Amino acid sequence: MSDVQNKQSPYPVIHALECKACGRCVLDCPKQVLELGKVLNERGYAFAVYKGEGCSGCGNCYYTCPEPNAVEVRVPKVPKKEITEA
Ligand code: SF4
Ligand code: SF4
Repeated sequence: MSDVQNKQSPYPVIHALECKACGRCVLDCPKQVLELGKVLNERGYAFAVYKGEGCSGCGNCYYTCPEPNAVEVRVPKVPKKEITEA
């Protein structure tokens, strides 16, 4: 799992044990902020990792991943005072 906990910006969380290193999330990330790592998980897969910054919170990685619990995207709530009308 990524250790990134920047609560001001969206970020993906990869659950290493569930990742099968298929690479779909890497290919589908429009920001190119995911990559397959060099460390193997307990099942022998070089699981995907977040590069640490640049995630837009689009959710592509979540929707393209074939493994139900391998990736989630956390998008911080915007405080009401920061919401402005268009
Ligand atoms: S939410 Fe979008 S930008 Fe963020 S890591 Fe996933 S695919 Fe990339
Ligand atoms: S799409 Fe899912 S299983 Fe495939 S590399 Fe990304 S997190 Fe791992």
